[in-house]
Amino acid sequence: MPTVSGQMMQMPLSISSLIRHAARHAGDVEVVSRRVEGDLHRSTYAEVERRSRQVAQALARLGCELGERIGTLAWNGHRHLELFYGISGSGRVCHTVNPRLHADQIAWIINHAQDRVLFFDSTFLPLVEKLAPQLASVAHWVLMTARAQMPADSALKNLHCYEDLLAAEDGQWAWPEFDENTASGLCYTSGTTGMPKGVLYSHRSTVLHALGQVSVDAMGIGSRDVVLPVTPMFHVNAWGVPFAAPMVGAKLVLPGSRLDGASLHELMESERVTFTAGVPTVWLGLITHMKAHRLQFSTLRRTVIGGAACPPAMMRTLEDDFGLEVIHAWGMTETSPLGTLAHLKAKHAALDAESRRALQQKQGKVIYGVDLAIVDADDRPLPWDGCTPGQLLVRGQWVVDHYLGSSESPHIDLAGERWFPTGDVATIDADGYMQITDRSKDVIKSGGEWISSIVLENIAMAHPAVHEAAAIACHHPKWDERPLLVVVRKPGADVSAADLLRFFDGKVASWQVPDDVVFVDELPHTATGKLFKMALRQAYRDHRLPGV
Ligand code: ADP
Repeated sequence: MPTVSGQMMQMPLSISSLIRHAARHAGDVEVVSRRVEGDLHRSTYAEVERRSRQVAQALARLGCELGERIGTLAWNGHRHLELFYGISGSGRVCHTVNPRLHADQIAWIINHAQDRVLFFDSTFLPLVEKLAPQLASVAHWVLMTARAQMPADSALKNLHCYEDLLAAEDGQWAWPEFDENTASGLCYTSGTTGMPKGVLYSHRSTVLHALGQVSVDAMGIGSRDVVLPVTPMFHVNAWGVPFAAPMVGAKLVLPGSRLDGASLHELMESERVTFTAGVPTVWLGLITHMKAHRLQFSTLRRTVIGGAACPPAMMRTLEDDFGLEVIHAWGMTETSPLGTLAHLKAKHAALDAESRRALQQKQGKVIYGVDLAIVDADDRPLPWDGCTPGQLLVRGQWVVDHYLGSSESPHIDLAGERWFPTGDVATIDADGYMQITDRSKDVIKSGGEWISSIVLENIAMAHPAVHEAAAIACHHPKWDERPLLVVVRKPGADVSAADLLRFFDGKVASWQVPDDVVFVDELPHTATGKLFKMALRQAYRDHRLPGV
């Protein structure tokens, strides 16, 4: 039987609709940014929307075609926000480049994306000048600053000043309407497990993600909130917060390049921030600073922690010592990034505190728009019993279909449905709560049995003398791989390897206890602030384990 069309308005889901909505209904709500220049800049959604239109006009004047990629190398700030809307809203693709990547990777990514214009903060001028000869697709360079801060001379031809470009436009320009499946943004995976791969988001996927994100079972952001995304805008679009905050009219606080504990705490207090989101490493700095200076939060209430496993000890500290609600979340560049969040269900209200915490320490359950499965090595679905680990698959409206420039589908077919293989190993319990046990590349395979590096790290992090810990596989002649713990001690704290290993007694099976501990001053992190285990594995490949 033929179906009948509904008779509702056809309005494409567009990124420009978010900022237009904010300008009309929350036009006076502030957008506060810590600028590279060091000062705090105050703007509003009405102003961001007007200046985004000027960005769109400037891009047209520079000769940028619709669909062209426009690169950004920038911190979280108001100009970057204007670019998000001006570029995508006008039908071009906003390509946020991660400046923390190796220079060769940055050049590779910009060439692969064929960026036509590169906008960058002055922090990155030396880097851009160095890379420019390799970046043939870039016709224009725009320094995101005012005329007074422009360099007297530069090796870059066609170097423009951001504020001059905007000042030349009158803002008399209307947002165009186009198909909601039009490409809007581009992010590359950080390439910690291979060459970076481009994920091309659409207007539709971005807006649906934002709608899901603001819901109470996700980030629960509303117009009452003051939101500070610590996650950089070049890391999966600051997890979508720059789209979600205008959608609900929440005040937005953008911390620029100052992501140390002292600067973040000061900004959160002075701007009365209520909600924040970031990777666990950021909290390490913040907690150390706050404990050293006996500080508290006067307005911050909730934080989403994800991107890497949040150690239970960190969650306890934030909740018990600083009164925060910690929402543990999992996602990836390929999932826009929100996949799961650890919120409780009504039936969990009667649980005792420790059982509730055990659930909240998992990576959580999906929100509408995302579905999960776990499969064995032959792609056969595994049970949701909370203890059988398998390869985690995901599908949904904001999950990648295929990577930029590749027609190959990375998907797995399950009963005729396409599922994206995440490369993570996870369990799912009967209530749908997912727990990551490891990245498949980080699992320690000891005599055919798997040991979760995350479990070992979580135990080590609960030791009072441990600041940060990584568990990695070390070659063993008999067992193939055995766990080695690499540890940074807290300043002034002392613990021996033997004491630390004794701390594992009774917490895991004896064969899972690491064979050795190495103490270091610092652990390597990836460009997105996670433990860089590949580098650690290489560094300790030939480490002699005791008794070998
Ligand atoms: P990359 O780390 O390669 O830059 P992403 O930022 O997209 O790329 O990282 C996605 C990966 O991060 C996931 O596949 C998973 O391994 C890890 N991850 C994200 N959130 C969590 C979490 N809460 N717990 C454990 N691992 C996580």
